[in-house]
Amino acid sequence: MNASYEKYTNGSSAALTSKRLEGKVAIITGGASGIGETTVRLFVCHGARVVIADVQDKLGRSLCDQLGAKGAVSYAHCDVTREEDVKNVVDFAVAEYGKLDIMYNNAGIPGKIYPSVLNSDSEDFKRVLDVNVYGAYLGAKHAARVMIPAKRGVILFTASIASMCCGESPHAYTASKHAVVGLMKNLCVELGQHGIRVNAISPGGIATSLLRNAVGLEKSTLEDALCTSAVLKGAVPRTDNVAEAALYLSGDEAKYVSGLNLTVDGGYSTTNPTFK
Ligand code: NAD
Repeated sequence: MNASYEKYTNGSSAALTSKRLEGKVAIITGGASGIGETTVRLFVCHGARVVIADVQDKLGRSLCDQLGAKGAVSYAHCDVTREEDVKNVVDFAVAEYGKLDIMYNNAGIPGKIYPSVLNSDSEDFKRVLDVNVYGAYLGAKHAARVMIPAKRGVILFTASIASMCCGESPHAYTASKHAVVGLMKNLCVELGQHGIRVNAISPGGIATSLLRNAVGLEKSTLEDALCTSAVLKGAVPRTDNVAEAALYLSGDEAKYVSGLNLTVDGGYSTTNPTFK
């Protein structure tokens, strides 16, 4: 098994047979942790040069040090709610690696869970929309700035099954993920004119720090709960499920796929009555 692939899979998955992103340059927001971190590892295994854009500088730099051989990975501090930061990270990728092929707008926060809208915190609502929607918009906007002249590119968003439901997730989170999918569709139509593909991925629950903090459970307890409620038995929901979807949507295998909200939830959203 390829050594760097083993680092991504912890030795548990199939051998790497081809490099599907050879020569591509990607930015992954929220790349220091969780789904973003796993996607950084997978993209690097597949030959991409990756800029990790995050606010967790220590984690991001440490990941960069682990994977940064031959300059394939860089870290840039980027708060996705600050336009200057987002502009700078796109300019940095182009200056460092010569172009930008893939912009993965993945950074997100869950917001707090309130039993009723009546006692919910309006500032929390604004903050979630700011990171999850405005941040994704800024990422797409500045990626498009350099992708349009190049007449190609891939823009991806991490939405959520909360982009399709009206159920258990916080009001702000549900609203934000519906908005992300709306933004994705709008950009698909506009940027398709310039050869740019735009897609979203909607994961189900995965025991990352985001979900652990939101529900206040330890990783193993949360994984047990997710496995119990899973439709597809025999697998723990993991970040690599989403990273593999991002790999597919970013690569040439998906060259005619645009406007898709790809659900990666083991079928969960097909049975829950709050999902449509
Ligand atoms: P995570 O907390 O492990 O990762 C999120 C990353 O986003 C962190 O590294 C964090 O520092 C970064 N981030 C937060 N605010 C930021 C900002 N303003 N600027 C830049 N970076 C910022 O959680 P995760 O589960 O890997 O989340 C990644 C994405 O997946 C999010 O958009 C989340 O909504 C989505 N998602 C997660 C789940 C789940 O169950 N874990 C399910 C569906 C969708």
